[in-house]
Amino acid sequence: MRSKIKDVRAMEILDSRGNPTVKAFVTLSNGIIASASCPSGASTGEHEAVELRDGGASRYGAKRVLKAVAHVNEKIAPILIDMDPARQAEIDRLMIHLDGTPNKQRLGANAIVSVSMAVARAAAVDAGLPLYAYMGGFAAVRIPMPMIMPVGAPNFTEAMLYATHTFHALKDILSEKKYTTSVGDEGGFAPNLKSNDEACELIIQAIETAGLKPGKDVAIALDPAASSFYGDGGYEFKKSGQGKKSAADMIALYRDWIGKYPIVSIEDGLAENDWEGFCSQTAEQGNKIQIVGDDIFVTNTRYIARGIKEKAANAVLIKLNQIGTVTETMEAINLCRKAGWGFVVSHRSGETDDSFIADFAVAMGGGQIKTGSVCRGERVAKYNRLLEIEAELGKAAIFENPFKGAS
Ligand code: MG
Repeated sequence: MRSKIKDVRAMEILDSRGNPTVKAFVTLSNGIIASASCPSGASTGEHEAVELRDGGASRYGAKRVLKAVAHVNEKIAPILIDMDPARQAEIDRLMIHLDGTPNKQRLGANAIVSVSMAVARAAAVDAGLPLYAYMGGFAAVRIPMPMIMPVGAPNFTEAMLYATHTFHALKDILSEKKYTTSVGDEGGFAPNLKSNDEACELIIQAIETAGLKPGKDVAIALDPAASSFYGDGGYEFKKSGQGKKSAADMIALYRDWIGKYPIVSIEDGLAENDWEGFCSQTAEQGNKIQIVGDDIFVTNTRYIARGIKEKAANAVLIKLNQIGTVTETMEAINLCRKAGWGFVVSHRSGETDDSFIADFAVAMGGGQIKTGSVCRGERVAKYNRLLEIEAELGKAAIFENPFKGAS
């Protein structure tokens, strides 16, 4: 007899920034219990699914997710009990229907996505398979390229060595120059540099100090997150005090950098509503580098389809909680694949130790993974899971490399 969902529960836990987030537990009739935790973005796309927080006057209280937790326990659980956990698409559709809004604002995307991921995990354990194999089948043997971009590495294990050598070399260089080496939310260094050019130059110096070749062994991927410095019809670099830049100015800046540095990918080089800017950048630079849309597409097939039609990018940043269910995330990736676009499965700035996205990326056939620097436990958890998967797959493992010989 097939197992059924016996119980669905959620609780409030903390993310890597010390903010409350949702963890969901799914119990099956045969006693299997699986769980999954929802991450949380700091800079969020305007159109992304709604992360439900309690709100109110107190600083911490406003961030609590007790409403979302209650929605799992009181509204979602009753409709999923007795269902077959392997019916992921149907379960996800039931939750979307129960919510009834286009952006999951009623139940909360944080409530829905943690249940959706926990259901997949419970079904995988029930099937006796690792999560990547359950979601991706026997063809799930491709390990994604990390966004630290060790493009010359022969496999993921070596890729991580390239990344850590470069990271440690950069730390030494920064301290020599008396810059701070404390790290930000995603584990990256956040020194107070003189210019954007200096950032690229120091990274190149670090790659060389690590005994690697810039461009050949390790390339650079940028995420300017341009929505964050766009306002009143222009892009503004507050520090340089040069006044507002147009989309054309930004594209010219990227042209200059691509000419000078081994850059293979730029994410959100323009603001989320600057479709025209995205289209111009793709027309000019899309045959040389990867143009990734994050805030502009918010993992939503509606925006991705428009992007494909208008040639607004050539790759999509994929975040499960930006859209809110495993099934819809898979649909977004399928759309990318059909169009010949790249996809990058991504963490959020607020993360937990949950390594779901590592298995998910392998299940989706590799692509790329963006899960921060090679420090901080919640970032490294994903890389460590990929190391485990590569070891488990052994000779069958293929290291995905869309940038072979790129620079
Ligand atoms: Mg981004």
